[in-house]
Amino acid sequence: MNILLNKAHFPVTVLGPGRRIGLWLQGCTIRCKGCVSQDTWPADPTRALPVKALLDWCRKVAGDGLDGITISGGEPFDQPKALGELLDGLTAWRKTAGLDFDLLCYSGHPLKTLEKQHAKLLARLDAVIPEPYADGRPLGHLWRGSDNQTLVPLSARGVARYADFCAAPQAPDEKRMQVSLENGKLWLIGIPHRGDMIALEALCQQRGLALNEVSWR
Ligand code: SF4
Repeated sequence: MNILLNKAHFPVTVLGPGRRIGLWLQGCTIRCKGCVSQDTWPADPTRALPVKALLDWCRKVAGDGLDGITISGGEPFDQPKALGELLDGLTAWRKTAGLDFDLLCYSGHPLKTLEKQHAKLLARLDAVIPEPYADGRPLGHLWRGSDNQTLVPLSARGVARYADFCAAPQAPDEKRMQVSLENGKLWLIGIPHRGDMIALEALCQQRGLALNEVSWR
């Protein structure tokens, strides 16, 4: 089965505890106002690749030590069959290789919707961060973009790893963004403060650098 993928990166250190693989799935039908990942919205078939190829890539990069895998997007639950195959493959790999990485997934759907429509997918995760991004609400908690978003442990591993972070505040001076340069594109990874992207663009413009194809509009 194919999965639509926007980007994969390792290591990611700003979206969950430890050194993580980050997988951003392509396609989102929710379209929250103020989303900074609007490049992930179209369900672009040119971004399809076999789930098996993505699993092979994960195994390859993880040789350096892996604490967890964060799946974001896009809306991962817009591809339920592919997400299920990916989670099954990651779980099987974790078991056979004797690893202990956790599986964290973001979703713009409310938790109640996920519980009703995707209970089998939730059962394969260690933690989920549900609810749509709310542009008018403050950025209050670690790894979350607005204070309506919760962090919900879903397994014993998830409780052990995430319970202390569920109500953890976003420290104002904490480093939240990673920068990576890949294939001629600059990627900013993490949860920006309100207005950070506009401020960055203004600073670049002041120095004569125009940003094209930005993901936040
Ligand atoms: S914040 Fe997430 S759920 Fe909301 S539009 Fe952006 S990608 Fe979709």
